[in-house]
Amino acid sequence: MLTLDQARSKMLEQIPFPTQTEYLNLQDAANRICAEDIISPINVPSFDNSAMDGYAVRLSDLQQSLTLSVAGKSFAGNPFQGEWSSQSAVRIMTGAMIPEGADAVIMQEQVILNEDGTVTFSELPKPNQNIRRIGEDVKKGDVVLEQGAPLTPVSLPLLASLGIAEVKCYRQLKVGVLSTGDELVEVGKPLQSGQIYDTNRFTVKLLLEKLNCEVIDLGLLPDNEAEFEKAFIAAQSQADLVITSGGVSVGEADFTKAVLEKVGQVNFWKIAIKPGKPFAFGKLENAWFCGLPGNPVSALVTFYQLVQPLIAKLQGQKQWKKPPHFSAIATMNLKKAPGRLDFQRGFYHINEQGQIEVQSVGFQGSHLFSAFVKSNCFIVLEQERGNVSAGETVTIEPFNHLLG
Ligand code: AMP
Ligand code: MG
Repeated sequence: MLTLDQARSKMLEQIPFPTQTEYLNLQDAANRICAEDIISPINVPSFDNSAMDGYAVRLSDLQQSLTLSVAGKSFAGNPFQGEWSSQSAVRIMTGAMIPEGADAVIMQEQVILNEDGTVTFSELPKPNQNIRRIGEDVKKGDVVLEQGAPLTPVSLPLLASLGIAEVKCYRQLKVGVLSTGDELVEVGKPLQSGQIYDTNRFTVKLLLEKLNCEVIDLGLLPDNEAEFEKAFIAAQSQADLVITSGGVSVGEADFTKAVLEKVGQVNFWKIAIKPGKPFAFGKLENAWFCGLPGNPVSALVTFYQLVQPLIAKLQGQKQWKKPPHFSAIATMNLKKAPGRLDFQRGFYHINEQGQIEVQSVGFQGSHLFSAFVKSNCFIVLEQERGNVSAGETVTIEPFNHLLG
C-alpha cells in the first residue's frame, strides 16, 4: 500500500500540464487557471494622486507661512489646471491628480478655514505625505500574475485595474461521472427492498462544479463486467477524466480494477488511508481515471485528498496548496488502529485560552455519512498512531472551500 503522500506525488508526476487554451473575458475567466504570465501594460496608479481629501501644498511655501490662499480645486477625474502662484494651496479630493510641483497633501481635518478664504495649517507636513505615487502599486512591465495562477475574485480585479479585458485560460476540464452498483437507485425514485440511493454521483458532481469542471453525467452502471467495459470505453472519448465510485474493492461484484486493467492501465490501487483504502488511479486510452470507493464517506474523503490535487494539475494550476495543518487538543478519546493514516471527521473551535480544541463528531464508520454534516475539519491521525486519549495533541486539517 502507498502512503497518501506517495500516491499524491505519483499521480501528480504522471500528469502533464494542459496545453489547450482559450481567451476569455474577465467575467467568464472566473475560477479558471491563467495560461500566461500577465505583464502590466500600465503603471498603477498611472499618475500621482491624493490619498486624502485635503489640500495639496508645496513645502517651500509653508516654510514661509502656514497660512496659504487657495488657488483652485482638483477632483478625481477632473484635475486642477493652470498655475498656482506661490503661497497658495490646491483643494484636492481622494484620487484626484496632484498638481504639478506639490509635494504633500494635508488632510482637511487638520486645516483651519479662515473667513477670508485662506487656509491655515498647524504644522509642516512630511514630503510625499498622502501622495500615491505613479507606479507605486504596479510598474509597467511588471509580471502581476504568473501562468498557472488561479483566476479568483482577488486576481481578476487586479487585471481589470490594468485595463486588461481578456485573459488566456486553460480550457475547462471535462469530467465524466459514473456510479456503479446493482443496488443503486436515482435520487427521486422509490426504493425497493435492498436498494439505496446513489449519493456518490450527486456528491461528485457537486464537487466538480465547485472546482469549475464541465460535468458529464454518465449515469448508473450495473455490476456487470461487459457493461463496465462498454461504459469506460465510451467515457474516455468524451471526458479528460473519468470518475467512478464503487466496485473498486475485491468483492465478487467489483469490476472496476479488472476492467481498467483490460481497457486501460492501473497505476495504483491501494492507499494506506482510512477511510478509502481502495482507490484506483489509472488511465484509459484518452482520459485519466479515478475509481473512488463506494462508501459515501470514503468517496468524499478520497475525492478531497486525491482527486482535488489531480484536478488542480489537470486544470493547469502550478502549485496545488496542500490544506494547512494545525495542532489541536483532543477533548475526547479517539479510537484509532495503527496501520493507516486516518481522516476522522471532527469539529474544532478556539477555546477561551485561545487554543484550538477538537472533538470527534461521532461514529467514524465509512458508511456513516450523517456525522460528516457536523464536522468542520479532518482529525488527521498518523499512520502508526494508536488510540488517542482526551488531552493529547492531534493534527487537524480544516476543510477548504470545497467542503465549506
Ligand atoms: P462497493 O465498493 O461497490 O462494494 O460499495 C461499498 C459500499 O458503498 C456498499 O455498501 C455500497 O452499497 C455503497 N455504495 C456504492 N456506491 C454508492 C453510491 N453511489 N451511493 C451510495 N452508496 C454507495
Ligand atoms: Mg458495488
